[in-house]
Amino acid sequence: MQNITILGSTGSIGTSTLDVVARHPNRYQVYALTAYKQVDLLFQQCVQFQPKFAVLLEEGAVAQMRARVKEAGLAVEVLSGVEALEQVCIANEVHAVMAAIVGAAGLRPTLAAARAGKKILLANKETLVLAGNVFMEAVRASGSALLPIDSEHNAIFQSLPHHYNGDMHGSGVRRILLTASGGPFRNTPLSELQHVTPEQACAHPNWVMGRKISVDSATMMNKGLEVIEARWLFNAQADDIQVVVHPQSVIHSLVEYVDGSVLAQLGNPDMRTPIAYGLAYPERIASGVCPLDLFKVARMDFVAPDFERFPCLALAYDALRAAGTAPAMLNAANEVAVEAFLDKRIAFLDIPKVISKVLNQLPVSAVHELDDVLEADARARAAATALLGDA
Ligand code: NAD
Ligand code: MG
Repeated sequence: MQNITILGSTGSIGTSTLDVVARHPNRYQVYALTAYKQVDLLFQQCVQFQPKFAVLLEEGAVAQMRARVKEAGLAVEVLSGVEALEQVCIANEVHAVMAAIVGAAGLRPTLAAARAGKKILLANKETLVLAGNVFMEAVRASGSALLPIDSEHNAIFQSLPHHYNGDMHGSGVRRILLTASGGPFRNTPLSELQHVTPEQACAHPNWVMGRKISVDSATMMNKGLEVIEARWLFNAQADDIQVVVHPQSVIHSLVEYVDGSVLAQLGNPDMRTPIAYGLAYPERIASGVCPLDLFKVARMDFVAPDFERFPCLALAYDALRAAGTAPAMLNAANEVAVEAFLDKRIAFLDIPKVISKVLNQLPVSAVHELDDVLEADARARAAATALLGDA
């Protein structure tokens, strides 16, 4: 029996994780569930999964949750705050942590899990974008098992040699081919992009996801963040990672070898596949995902990414090449800009403009420790917020 903490259990990845966990009651037990403020859903999850702890971040939500737990007579202890998030990751009883908080808020508890040597199922790509070297160093030092949950990185992980040690060229790997759906605006006339709404941006053709990552998919910043994520997970350089637009989202990514072989992982676009893979690794368990019907898929298309239509992708490659604090600043400016777009304070095409201005304004410095990253994150958030004030 494995004890699991699910950070961000009320989100898209969190609920999919619980769906898989519920299919295997003899393998997994939920130790802790966490959410920002969604009391109703978190309470229902507590009734169903009976965790030891439930953590909420918003004070009002904590009080409500405590009252509901007491009234229902549940044996769940309700905690609050970032320290509590860390506590439910590092506790002795915990075997694995699903890191599925959205954004930079996921960094601290995910890093705490890595330092404590827990098995980490990593969905929160922002952790690697912000603090790739600090996080990977913590994973190495503690001997944590790190399983990528992002579907592309999970596919790459499955297609790399077993026990891949980060030596791409020594392992005979020539390139990583990172697939992208192209999002909802792949073919939208450029003249219409200025006026697209948050609802249109969140209507992804193939995947159902949280709102932030949905907007990132529409700008292709998501793919940019994933290029940076791949850099750290697989010790690849920017030039080793080729983005391939594949609108059907059936091939989840590929690895090209020096002998001409190309290995890929395919499946229906449903996050329960990489989640089940991560949970059971190195075994395989049922996930509830429908088998892939190749006759229904019938055809698969591949095109090169359009960096003019999607300037965010170019900005991410630039930040990766600039290294140091550049990716952390890219991520912070993006989070501020996406939130402003979702609140209808800026237009869709302003997102890359805000990020680019922030990156041009702020100097890049080296990252030696977590504080370097947190300072860069704070500076870039302040700069982006100031720009929105001017907009
Ligand atoms: P979501 O918005 O659906 O859920 C986010 C979860 O984080 C919720 O439980 C929310 O309560 C919690 N949360 C939000 N802000 C928080 C804060 N400040 N402090 C603590 N908790 C907070 O997001 P999602 O789509 O499930 O994505 C989660 C992560 O997984 C993201 O990093 C995303 O990039 C990554 N990811 C998601 C998908 C997907 O299919 N949804 C695929 C690949 C990677
Ligand atoms: Mg992905």
